[in-house]
Amino acid sequence: MAKNYAMVIDLQKCVGCAACSVACKNENNTDIGKNWSSAIQRTIGTFPNVKYEYIPTLCNHCENAPCAKACPTQAMYKDENGLTLHNTDKCIGCKSCMLACPYGVISANKRDPHEYWKQEDAFIGGGMTATPKEVTERTGTPIPYYNADREKTYEGIRYKGIVEKCTFCDHRLAEGEKPYCSVACPAKCRYVGDLNDPTDEINELLGKYAARQLQPDKGTKPKVFYIRSF
Ligand code: SF4
Ligand code: SF4
Repeated sequence: MAKNYAMVIDLQKCVGCAACSVACKNENNTDIGKNWSSAIQRTIGTFPNVKYEYIPTLCNHCENAPCAKACPTQAMYKDENGLTLHNTDKCIGCKSCMLACPYGVISANKRDPHEYWKQEDAFIGGGMTATPKEVTERTGTPIPYYNADREKTYEGIRYKGIVEKCTFCDHRLAEGEKPYCSVACPAKCRYVGDLNDPTDEINELLGKYAARQLQPDKGTKPKVFYIRSF
């Protein structure tokens, strides 16, 4: 039976450390300014009853995904396991998906990524340090911290002129592993599982706690659920 992947984030456990965001960058080779895993940080209430909120965000892999519906080439699409995925070969960079997504989680690549690692100037001249270009050439990869696993299901580094976003680490899910943000979280507050499996811990959590989704009024049926509060 096909899966229906979803994530439950326990905001009471989340300490707002952003380890998820850093882990995501490592796993998915994202460029500076491209954050598939991010967070809403805000202060709510009126003094003296104010409260700080940290809400980790990512693609919600919406059941009713407006991004996929808006894409004229089917580059953005829903897969058989409920993931919203992106085919770089079909993407024409029109950004219709970005306009349609109410969550702002899709990035447009306006320039070639990781330009810093092509620079030929050393930080300190006179042979004191290597140039970024030299370091990159010696490591033999597009960037020194390159994760080749990402290439199993998606372009390892997405190029200029297309869009990109979180895939729920579909390359890891395909091998029975959890998304890297979930694994790296020191508070273990990100649970990833299958809504179709009644024995899955995410269904246990969704039965136990009242869950919230971001902008449910948009009718997108997001599959990132938040329980409890910071
Ligand atoms: S959060 Fe945005 S990009 Fe992700 S599935 Fe929903 S509409 Fe599409
Ligand atoms: S930018 Fe790419 S994925 Fe987005 S709607 Fe246009 S073709 Fe589809």
